[in-house]
Amino acid sequence: MLKVKNLHAKIEDKEILKGINLEVNPGEVHAIMGPNGSGKSTLSSVLAGREEYEMTEGEIIFEGNDLSEMAPEERAHKGVFLSFQYPVEIPGVSVTNFIKTAINAQRKAHGLADMPANDMLKLIREKSEMLEIDRKFLSRSLNEGFSGGEKKRNEIFQMAMLNPKLSILDETDSGLDIDALRIVANGVNKLRSKDNAVLLITHYQRLLNYIVPDVVHVLVDGKIVKSGGKELAYELEERGYDWVKQETV
Ligand code: ADP
Ligand code: MG
Ligand code: MG
Repeated sequence: MLKVKNLHAKIEDKEILKGINLEVNPGEVHAIMGPNGSGKSTLSSVLAGREEYEMTEGEIIFEGNDLSEMAPEERAHKGVFLSFQYPVEIPGVSVTNFIKTAINAQRKAHGLADMPANDMLKLIREKSEMLEIDRKFLSRSLNEGFSGGEKKRNEIFQMAMLNPKLSILDETDSGLDIDALRIVANGVNKLRSKDNAVLLITHYQRLLNYIVPDVVHVLVDGKIVKSGGKELAYELEERGYDWVKQETV
């Protein structure tokens, strides 16, 4: 599904990613872990196509398409979901209206007409019930005064509604209290299927107690220095990152 080959990227003339190789198949959840400053968020930003980051070498192939030349919206229309895609506050636009617009934009990109209002309502009801999101939340203004947990709830709701093939979730250290952690974990677990994949970038070993990954990668200084099964996450929790660094020197 996703093939990242020898990916190099820099920001403001500083090379951050130094040759990332990664292959994600349908049905898999991959976790990317690593010490602070190792380039995890840079990797998600580059996969998202954020403009501040310059890709200098390598390839990002998603279902046979080269993503590297595509704008973030085009990547989304191909079925790639990025957790921080819509972090903006939009006063006066509700959670529901925003997602309706996003869904219809995606349909339009595929040459489809707007989703009939009844189908949309049904879908919203189904997904919000599945994720235990209440009506009041759906009518609130997008991100306005949202707590960390509410931002996560909205993100997971968007993910459920858009039904992406690949979700890239960057769980940075901001605002992930225990509630937010649970929301992300429940959402991801409920949305897991043999057809979709998740790339979970996390600063938290703890999250992997709730979402059991198929593959764990350790990113150190812009490179994946070790990959393994879920047991690697436990090993990191116990031993920290230093031993991985030492092993690879
Ligand atoms: P992580 O998410 O693993 O903590 P980041 O990808 O955020 O790591 O950061 C990797 C490195 O890139 C760090 O050294 C950081 O200082 C640098 N960096 C990230 N974003 C910027 C930026 N906007 N401008 C300058 N340096 C940056
Ligand atoms: Mg960081
Ligand atoms: Mg980060």
